[in-house]
Amino acid sequence: MSSLFSDVFDSKLRDSWGRFLKNVRLEDVEKSLNKDVLDFEDFLSLISVTNDAFLEKQAQKSRDLTLKRFGHTMQLYAPLYVSNECYNACEYCSFTKDNVIPRKTLNASEFDREVTFLTRQGFQNILILSGEDQRKLPLSYFEKLLERMSPHCAYKGLEIYPLDLEGYIRMRAAGVDGVVVYQETYDEKVYKELHTAGPKRLFHKRLNVPDWIGQSGIRHVGIGALLGLSDWRLDVASVAYHAHYLTQTYWKMKVSISVPRIKKGPEGFAPQDEVLDKDLVQIITALRLFLPDCGIVLSTREPENLRDHLILLGVTQMSAGSTTNPGGYEVDPESLKQFDIVDHRPVENIVSVLQNKGYDPVWKDWDGEMS
Ligand code: SF4
Repeated sequence: MSSLFSDVFDSKLRDSWGRFLKNVRLEDVEKSLNKDVLDFEDFLSLISVTNDAFLEKQAQKSRDLTLKRFGHTMQLYAPLYVSNECYNACEYCSFTKDNVIPRKTLNASEFDREVTFLTRQGFQNILILSGEDQRKLPLSYFEKLLERMSPHCAYKGLEIYPLDLEGYIRMRAAGVDGVVVYQETYDEKVYKELHTAGPKRLFHKRLNVPDWIGQSGIRHVGIGALLGLSDWRLDVASVAYHAHYLTQTYWKMKVSISVPRIKKGPEGFAPQDEVLDKDLVQIITALRLFLPDCGIVLSTREPENLRDHLILLGVTQMSAGSTTNPGGYEVDPESLKQFDIVDHRPVENIVSVLQNKGYDPVWKDWDGEMS
């Protein structure tokens, strides 16, 4: 049997990275930054507290490398929430199972309305999202949605409950191009404290989900941590290590990394280790230099000015004009959101911003990216 990520990742590894990070010297950062090909220790140096003096240089290098690998392009995608049903209890999420809210799952015609709304704006890359509840949202539900959106979309993504290998093979047959699954935090202790009920409690099982996606032959996986739930440097290191493992193990599969930050929530949930704007720049540019071919995804959780700035520094894919509630575009705009959007600009504004910076908004470029 082939290896799985849980065979190569554990808390001892994170502890050793923690020790390494404490001992990074300024000359280590400079040396790492002068390399063309970075190893994992170089990456740790770039995300260390010590790296302050060289952030400007790091940003410039990241920008140059991104332009070299991806050109002046930005892929645009839209999240489409289809349900807020969930059987998990996650402390930081408004869809958590014990939250008494009106639960809503789009039916076929409501789904069509949302797809039409998005495709009229130009979106060809749509990510179907839902809470995690396989009993109320069986795979046959998603198969039907995929079939309905197929004639209208070039790229069909899924961010739903994790599946096993057989499940992903079935989703691949239904036309899925990519799957997103966040570990949320790679800190096992914090993970167990924050995920108190439901199948998501199983830390190691979730760690191995991207392996099943890779083995199924689905051509794209998105991973990430909700930065701030635990020590952000160690979580960023874990995501980078995971992405590197996946690119080495499943070389045909494209890997993207998302960098969402957890913010103080309406129910009082606060980040344990707040990620500042300058930290996010450090994270994105370090990821780019260590993993030159990985996609880096930025959502509308982030404020306008910061998003506009990050366009130039390493990001390759952005959402625009998003909502985070089921039916949020047309069907039921007032339903409860999973989290608050910060950049509310409509898609046409984002397109103008990109064009003013000399970037082409890309609605459909999967063949080029995947080859
Ligand atoms: S984060 Fe996902 S699994 Fe957890 S409560 Fe929210 S929707 Fe459910």
